[in-house]
Amino acid sequence: MGGVPEKIMTWQMVQPASFNKETKETTPGKLEKKEIPVPKLQPDEVLVEVAGCGVCHTDLGYFYDGVPTVSKPPLSLGHEISGTVVAGDQAWMGKEVIIPAVMPCRKCELCKTGRSNRCLAQKMPGNSLGIYGGFSSHIPVPSIDLCEVKNRGKMPLSHLSVVADAATTPYQAAKRASLQPGDNVVVVGITGGVGQYMGQTAKALGARTVIGIARNQEKLERALKFGADYVISSKDKDAGAISKEFRALCKEKGLPGTGWKIFEVSGSKAGQEIGLTLLSFTGKLIVVGFSMVKTEYAIGRLMAFDAEIIGTWGCPPEYYPIVLDMVLNGKINVENFVETRPMSQIAETFAEAHKTPPMKRIVLTPDF
Ligand SMILES: [Zn+2]
Ligand SMILES: [Zn+2]
Repeated sequence: MGGVPEKIMTWQMVQPASFNKETKETTPGKLEKKEIPVPKLQPDEVLVEVAGCGVCHTDLGYFYDGVPTVSKPPLSLGHEISGTVVAGDQAWMGKEVIIPAVMPCRKCELCKTGRSNRCLAQKMPGNSLGIYGGFSSHIPVPSIDLCEVKNRGKMPLSHLSVVADAATTPYQAAKRASLQPGDNVVVVGITGGVGQYMGQTAKALGARTVIGIARNQEKLERALKFGADYVISSKDKDAGAISKEFRALCKEKGLPGTGWKIFEVSGSKAGQEIGLTLLSFTGKLIVVGFSMVKTEYAIGRLMAFDAEIIGTWGCPPEYYPIVLDMVLNGKINVENFVETRPMSQIAETFAEAHKTPPMKRIVLTPDF
């Protein structure tokens, strides 16, 4: 624990990449190392010394793909953060914590009716928490939502940053799906940063069968060791061909043709088409991955199938301790899915992850 600093060191997104429709010119995004003042903390706020911050697809969306942040640039990105409290609310001093990726207002109608994960006034570091984000030495945050880390054994604190978002979003998705022990589950996009935790979470919550679908063979084989019972490669196949393979697999393994809970985590048109094609009698399709694409579907099928399509967003802070326990008890493996790098490599890391989705979640550790 380094005490209260004089300044916060940070990697700011000075400007995101932009595309001029008329000239067809792309202006690259800019990340700059900056010093920002430590703000005056309110009684219910703390200053967290960052141990690690995960590089998420969402950050890349803000930086490269024109997805707007709520707080306008310059701001620091990064919302998958773990660290140690070094100032503020005395009850939290010295504690190791995970900062929830989305922090609800706790006052609005949604917060009061159990839907706080989709609170419209929620704060998200690296998006709607003013200029503050996780790719920094320190970050000021409200203390009420913090998840305390205890008894982490040999697990590095930096690795636990992925509990924020990557490992908790699947838990909330499973809740939205009313996932029960004995359920049969499909995860479309099981090889992705969130997808692989979706497979592991479903299994940990007692799913009878988890079938993973994705394109990358190496990552599919890894999924078989962590949550998936069977995998289907979607490489160079359309949804119809995958549906055929899925039905053949069900027949071969004596699995039912009804009631499947299908999690679409890829956030791609191809993934959505697979999910919609597999959705059948009494099934549920849970949309976990975000995309702007339009995908066609005859919604009358929902009536005929007595089926559901459900969206899911984030995870309320109160589930974080449950997910953290699952990680620390080894029910969900993070170690094989995390790689740490010094934060000074942020620009190269963003470029690399934007080009090819990495094998492991990259967690940046401050080296200012
Ligand atoms: Zn994220
Ligand atoms: Zn609210």
